Amino acid sequence: MNAVTKATVAELIPFRTADGLDLELRRMSGDGPAVLLVHGHGVSSEMFALDEIRNVTDVLADAGYQPWLLDWRGSSRLRYNEFGDPYTFDDVALYDIPDAVAQIRARIGDRPLFVVAHCVGALALALSLTAGRLPGLAGVVAQGVFLTPKVGNAVRLRVLLGSELLASRVHHLDSDFRKVGLWSRRTLLYAALTRKGDCPDPTCRMVHHGWGMGVRLFEHDHLHPRTHDRLADLFGPIPLSVLPHLRQMELAHAAVRWNDTDERYRDLPENALDQADRIDCPVLLLSGSRNEAWQDSNRLCRDVLAARAPGVDARYVEIPSYGHLDTFIGRGAALDVFGHLLDFLDEISARRA
Ligand SMILES: [Zn+2]
Repeated sequence: MNAVTKATVAELIPFRTADGLDLELRRMSGDGPAVLLVHGHGVSSEMFALDEIRNVTDVLADAGYQPWLLDWRGSSRLRYNEFGDPYTFDDVALYDIPDAVAQIRARIGDRPLFVVAHCVGALALALSLTAGRLPGLAGVVAQGVFLTPKVGNAVRLRVLLGSELLASRVHHLDSDFRKVGLWSRRTLLYAALTRKGDCPDPTCRMVHHGWGMGVRLFEHDHLHPRTHDRLADLFGPIPLSVLPHLRQMELAHAAVRWNDTDERYRDLPENALDQADRIDCPVLLLSGSRNEAWQDSNRLCRDVLAARAPGVDARYVEIPSYGHLDTFIGRGAALDVFGHLLDFLDEISARRA
C-alpha cells in the first residue's frame, strides 16, 4: 500500500451554534460516506491532519470516505478556551456536535455519516447520542473513553487541585511554557506541573504529562520529530471551568450532565449510561494498551454496555503499545491504528450497500 494522496481542504464552513458561538467545519477532499472527526480538548482538528505523517484524513480519503474536520469550542484554534465565557461539556454535547452534524447533513443529503471522536470529544458525543440528538448515524468510533470515564489516582488528585485553583481566579492553564515566562505569578505552579519527565522541552513535558495531570498523554517515541517540535502549536490552553464537570463524570464513572437547574440542558441525560439504549448505531471503542489518561475506560464501557444495553452493537479494539493521543498523531498510526477504523467503517458500509 503506497501513500498516494494527501487529503486537502475542499471547503471551509464557518457556522454559528444555537447559543451564538462561531465554530468551523472543514470538508476535506474525498467522496463517499462522510466521516466527522471530533478532536479532544485543548488540541484542535489539526490532530487529524498532521502534514508530517500519513494522517487519518489521508487514509479515509484514500479509502473512499469524505472526512470532515470540526473545531468545537474547546479547540486550540479558537479563542474560547482563553477568553470566552465559562462553558462545560454540556454545551459541546447540546450545541457544537449536533449543530455541526446538521451542517454536514444539509450538504450530504442521504449519504451515510460516521463520527470519530477522541477523548473529551467522545465524552461529549456520548451525551449527545444518549440525549437522542444524533439519530441515524451510520456508526461511531470513540477513542480512549466514551460512556464510562475512569482515571487513575494521580489524575483524580490533580483534577481536584485544578478545581481548587478555580477559587483562586486562575482562568486557564497555558500549555506553552514560553508564554508563561520565568517570572510570572504562575511560575511556581508551572514549575510544579512540569517537574517530571526526561525531555528537555518544557512544552513537551507540560503536555506529555497531561497539563500536570500526572499521566502521559502519548508515547513519546511514537511521535514524528516534527510533531514533537511543534507541540506548542498543537496544544492550547485549557479553561479550568471544565474541571468540576470532568470531576463529576469521573466520580460517577459515567458521562453525566453538569447543569441541573438550567432548563436549556434538560434534554441531556442526567447519566448517559441510563439512556445507553438510545444509541442506534454500531460503536467501535478504541484504546491504546498504554492509555494512562483514561486507563481501560473503553474496555469497561464494552462490558458495561453488554450488561446494561445488550442491544447496542459495541466492540472494543485495543492497540498494543499505544498510549492516548498517539493513536491519532503517532507517526505509525496509519499502519497500527487506522486499519481497525477502516475495517469497522467498511464492514458497516458493505452491510448498508
Ligand atoms: Zn519531548
